Parts: sequence; structure tokens; C-alpha cells
Amino acid sequence: MSEAFKILENPELGRYAAADRKLKAGDILFEETPFAIGPKLDSPPVCLECYCPVDGSASGQKCTKCGWPLCEECGAKGNSIIYHRKECALFVKNAVKFQSVDDSTASCAQLDCITPLRVLLEKEDQPERWNAEISTMEYHHEARKATAVWNADHHNVVGYLRGPCGLKNHFSEDLIQQVIGILQVNAFEARTCNGYAVRGLYPKLAIMAHSCVPNVVHSIHPSKDYKLVARAAIDVAEGGMLFTTYTYTLNGTAMRQSALKAGKYFTCRCARCLDPTELGTHFSSLKCQKCDNGLIESSNPLDDNADWKCTHCEFKTRGAAVLKASQVMQTELDELAYMEYGPERLENFERVYKKYKSVLHPLHFINTSIRDSLIELYGRIQGYEMQDLPDILLERKVELCQDVLKVLNVFEPGKSRARAMVLYELHAPLILLAQSAFSRGTLEGASLKEKLTEAADILKESAEILEWEDASTPEGILANVAKQSIVQLEQSIQSLD
Ligand SMILES: [Zn+2]
Ligand SMILES: [Zn+2]
Ligand SMILES: [Zn+2]
Ligand SMILES: [Zn+2]
Repeated sequence: MSEAFKILENPELGRYAAADRKLKAGDILFEETPFAIGPKLDSPPVCLECYCPVDGSASGQKCTKCGWPLCEECGAKGNSIIYHRKECALFVKNAVKFQSVDDSTASCAQLDCITPLRVLLEKEDQPERWNAEISTMEYHHEARKATAVWNADHHNVVGYLRGPCGLKNHFSEDLIQQVIGILQVNAFEARTCNGYAVRGLYPKLAIMAHSCVPNVVHSIHPSKDYKLVARAAIDVAEGGMLFTTYTYTLNGTAMRQSALKAGKYFTCRCARCLDPTELGTHFSSLKCQKCDNGLIESSNPLDDNADWKCTHCEFKTRGAAVLKASQVMQTELDELAYMEYGPERLENFERVYKKYKSVLHPLHFINTSIRDSLIELYGRIQGYEMQDLPDILLERKVELCQDVLKVLNVFEPGKSRARAMVLYELHAPLILLAQSAFSRGTLEGASLKEKLTEAADILKESAEILEWEDASTPEGILANVAKQSIVQLEQSIQSLD
């Protein structure tokens, strides 16, 4: 397959990718399999084949050959094991034992070596691919060396692999640190069929520059050796730069910047980061309490210590104070996230939403995060099932979806999975509201048809994006549900003629 991007280089950006031809939204840019895939950093004990959480105590399930964690199902695979195979042979050869842990929910430092080891073993097996795609990757050697993590890695990974694992003559200390750095700076998160998070090294995707408004989307297929398919999210002109994102787009600028600095060692200077209004969304803006209609915004979004000033009056405050306030609100949300899925959870999110209404811009990231949680709850929990929701709550769900879409349309424009998920949530209340108005006699047949067609179009847009996901993942399953609903919806639209 001829690829739709070319790799360029300039002193400021290093290597980056640009469209090799005019791209339409949804066009495939490239496909690739990961160089290696494995447990995330700070992972608790997980099966080394399928990454499900396992009991790491002495009585937990282990690989019968090497004694490292392997779930029962994967243990029964015998010689058809794939991901754990090479390290298993190494552990057996050197009699490297897994030390049982008491707390299977805490991160297990012994597993820190697994993903780097898989990269190193792959380097031996695929030296050409290593040279062409991995050895050139950024790893910020000097910046990492100054961190506490470096020393921990030196002990837990470098010392462990060169000592007990018997790899002293295979891999130098520098090479192992290089691999750890490459993973930290370049790895992407993937999900298994069962939804567990892992990290994988995808060299082509890693060449894409970062932006907090990406124009490339990707889906990873756990059932096809974690193959990644990258697509243009929006139309891109020939020669246009291609951007992926290394951070969570629904965080405010301060949080994105600190995550990028700590994890990836750079300061993002994309248009969104430089703009105090975050491209007109006011995603981090507060309402001024000293005047009407004033918004408090950072005078320099790249500097946490810069003053935040009102757009209408003289009021200003320290950046640290704003940061502190948003941390307090975030902590309150984090606590709610532990609540059981039930009416109380929903009512508490609504309560917090009202509590901060006078302080936050309507599209503030805290409000967006609350909306995200509420969208998931309305229509799904006891007492708030979709068929039982009164019109006023159906309207609430529609409003929540539309407000989240206002933000996503700017930060993850085009054919993004996040938009597709919200579009899916939006279609059902729209249908129920139209049917309810029709049965009350406030909506005529022709208008009902129009409203249902609108809902069908929303559902089609959602299905078209979700269809790119692996059929075994929650999104892939939803794509199939959506396709069946489209057929039913079109039948009922036709019956209105
Ligand atoms: Zn398993
Ligand atoms: Zn094993
Ligand atoms: Zn940015
Ligand atoms: Zn003011």
C-alpha cells in the first residue's frame, strides 16, 4: 500500500510528517504493527499475555514454565503463547523468579522490565526494523538523567536485566536506558479486547508531531496483533503537517502542559496552548465575581505563575490561586468517580455542576468533565432508564451532548472516536423526544419524519467512525448496535410516508 505521508525534517521540529497528497477526512494514512507491546509503567500484577489483573501472591496464577504471572486461560494456551514467549524462555534459562507480592492492586516494580525487555529482544530479532524505525527515536537522555525515575529504572530495569536476567553481554547500560527513554517519550496507549490498558511502540505514529488539536486519528486492533490504522480526521491539504496528540485533549492548558513536560520533556506551543481562550472555547476561563460578564483568563498560558486577569474589569489574581481552585474542584470530581453506578452518583454530579455554575465558564473543562459523566448515566442507571426519562431529562441529556460536542468539534474535530461516542449518546433522546411530541399532538407527521431523519444522520455519522474500531472492543460492539438501529430507524421513517 502506498502511504499518504512523507517524512520531513527541520531544525526546530526535528522529524515530522506531512500529507503527501490531498487527504479527505477518513482517508487511511498508514497501517503498522507495534515493534513491541507490553504492560504500562507502574502496572500492578497482570497476566503477561493478555494483561488482565491477576493475583500476585504466592497462590496466584503463574506460568507453569517460568513462574511469572499468567492468567489461567493464557496458561492453558501452552506453546501458542505469543507475547510472553521470548521473555519466558529467558526467565527459564536464567532461573529468574517472580517474587510474590502481598498487595495485587499496588504497582509492581518487577513488571517495569517487561516492556523494555520485549523491545530489546525484538531488536535482536529485527535489527533492520530497529535501525530504520526505532534507533532514531527521541529519548531525551540528558533531561531524563536528571530525574528520580532514572535512578529507579537503573536499579529496577538496567540492573535487573544485566544481573539476574543474564543480559550483561547483550545490552549495555546506555542501550537499556535508551530503550526506557524511547518508551517513555514515544509509546502510545492501546487497549486489549477486554479493555485493559497496555503500551505499544508505533514508530510511524510517533513521527507525527504533537498538537493539542490533532488532525490524525488512529484505532488499534487487539485481535489483529495490535495493528494500528491511522487516518486523517479532517481534510488535509497536500503538504499539510500531520499531528497526533500525546495528551488528553479534554484537559485544560495548565494540565496538558504539565503532563507533556513531565512525561515527554517538551513545551507545546500549538495555537490552542498559546491562546488564553483555547480557541474561543474558554475551556480554562473563570467567571469574574467582581463584574458582570467578565472572564478571568491567563495573561500567559505557558507560564503557571503568570497573572490571570478579568477581560472587563481591573480584577487579577495569581496563576497559582487559579491552579489551586481547579485542583480542589478536580478532587471533588475524582471522589465522585468512585461512587457506585446509581441514582446517587448522577444526583451528586448534578449537584457539583450547580455548585460551580457561577464560578466557571459554561464550557470550562471541569463542566465538560461533569457532562461526560452525566451523559453516561442518563438513560443507563436505575430510575433513569431511557424509556422512563421524562421529556425534561431527555432534553437535559441532549443539552449535555451538544455542549460536549461544542468543545470536541474544536479540540478533536472531524472523525474522532470521542465525537462518535457523544453522537451515539445524542441520537436516542432525540428520537424519544420527537416521538413524545408526536404522540402528544404537538408535532406533525412531516416534522416527526424530519426529526427522525436528523437522528438517523447523527447515528450514521457515529457508526461510520466507530466501525473503524476492532469488533471486539466496546466501541466496535457499539458500531454494530448502531448499524442495526439505523436499519430499524430507516424502516420507521419509511412507514411514515
Ligand atoms: Zn491472560
Ligand atoms: Zn513463562
Ligand atoms: Zn498544545
Ligand atoms: Zn471583572
